[in-house]
Amino acid sequence: MKITIVGSGYVGLVTGACMAEVGNNVLCLDVDASKIDVLNSGGIPIHEPGLLEMVARNRAAGRLAFTTDVEKAVAHGEIQFIAVGTPPDEDGSADLKYVTAAARNIGRYMTGFKVVVDKSTVPVGTADKVRAAIQDELNQRKLSTPFTVVSNPEFLKEGAAVEDFMRPDRVVVGCAADAEGERGKQLMRALYAPFQRNHERMFFMDVRSAELTKYAANAMLATRISFMNELANLAEILGADIELVRQGIGSDPRIGYHFLYAGCGYGGSCFPKDVQALKRTSEEAGSGSRILAAVEASNDAQKHVLARKLVKEYGEDLKSRCFAIWGLAFKPNTDDMREAPSRVLIRELLERGARLRVHDPVAMEETQRVLKLDFADHPDWLSRVEYTDTPNSALEGADALVIVTEWKAFRSPDFEFIRNTLRDPLIVDGRNLYDPATVASYGLRYIPIGRPIVTPQTV
Ligand code: NAD
Repeated sequence: MKITIVGSGYVGLVTGACMAEVGNNVLCLDVDASKIDVLNSGGIPIHEPGLLEMVARNRAAGRLAFTTDVEKAVAHGEIQFIAVGTPPDEDGSADLKYVTAAARNIGRYMTGFKVVVDKSTVPVGTADKVRAAIQDELNQRKLSTPFTVVSNPEFLKEGAAVEDFMRPDRVVVGCAADAEGERGKQLMRALYAPFQRNHERMFFMDVRSAELTKYAANAMLATRISFMNELANLAEILGADIELVRQGIGSDPRIGYHFLYAGCGYGGSCFPKDVQALKRTSEEAGSGSRILAAVEASNDAQKHVLARKLVKEYGEDLKSRCFAIWGLAFKPNTDDMREAPSRVLIRELLERGARLRVHDPVAMEETQRVLKLDFADHPDWLSRVEYTDTPNSALEGADALVIVTEWKAFRSPDFEFIRNTLRDPLIVDGRNLYDPATVASYGLRYIPIGRPIVTPQTV
């Protein structure tokens, strides 16, 4: 099939590459010419395991191409995926200006039947707006070309995006209940058939339910994380261990083990904005959501937990202190720094005068870019941030080590080296990576989240 992907970011590029991988002919469009230049010269603008190789393979096979030419992109695919960004507006609702612009472009140039697929995460009712924008353009051209708008939200996880797309848990498709909608449904069924060869994973529904399903999934996951973070904070006060509590409740199949880890807050491009947008939708609909408001507030507070622990150890004035930070990306296997808890920690520590030695396996360049924006008001503070090539070199001259992202490379460190290198042998662990007794056995003090603090004397 011939497919066009509008927006070649995380979702668009992965969708395009995976669709090409199973034999489709895919043209990816983006308004960002520098992104398209990178893609056309054999690179990819993001870090995502397996993606570079997949893009290269399919480009070489002539099934995947990239362009900034809107007219050519609209002409290419009978199926047009819209995978542009939907950032939060000032009031928290999803800003649909990129989605609307993409829709108008389709209406402006289409000449035959199109299935327009909303893959971006968009509020309930957006398909109607996309339909209206396309129809308006067609009316201006005095055309009555048929089309349908389908909702097909994406559930991939950054860091495992290719794997998730190739082996989806489910494919949700919302179609209109008319003849064009039925035509769209059949095309979507055929398009996704190669991704579900061992059992049916497609859920067909009405468009509004599909749109709401995406927000419901992310809001539920964010709620689980915030719930565990609050329990962790309570466990600290009560002298309980959140890891044992996690195992105790996760063993109940109604609860399950997934997404029950306490930490230093969730970030990324999806949970914060989707929780905010669903809260806004609930308010606008007059129903409101006390739960989502609490989830959001709880997560904002949790992003300060690591700084709070350091201040408790060293006091408010951190001018004479230097901290090593391991992990900057909002989660492992990505260089995405959007809403990353590390940014809150870095601000808190720099504000108090600390020096930082930071390391991330892939997000160093992206960190430098976003910190320049974050500290546009205090560019001089950034001279106190040093980027180190390895995790161990971040420790040199540092008082304590702070772990923010649970990269695999941090799971089994050389604790002896850590103890001998840090000025004050302390690890503050925002991701509960280690067995506390093991850390203490190396003569290190260990402050995890929601677990008792261990010092060499207490074990
Ligand atoms: P992104 O910012 O990485 O990519 C969006 C791309 O769209 C950018 O490259 C931008 O230049 C391009 N663009 C904007 N307007 C355009 C236009 N009119 N024509 C062509 N290109 C245009 O965003 P993303 O992370 O891929 O997210 C896209 C959507 O998918 C969002 O709604 C997001 O919520 C949703 N989503 C994201 C993830 C994720 O993990 N990133 C997962 C599921 C769903």
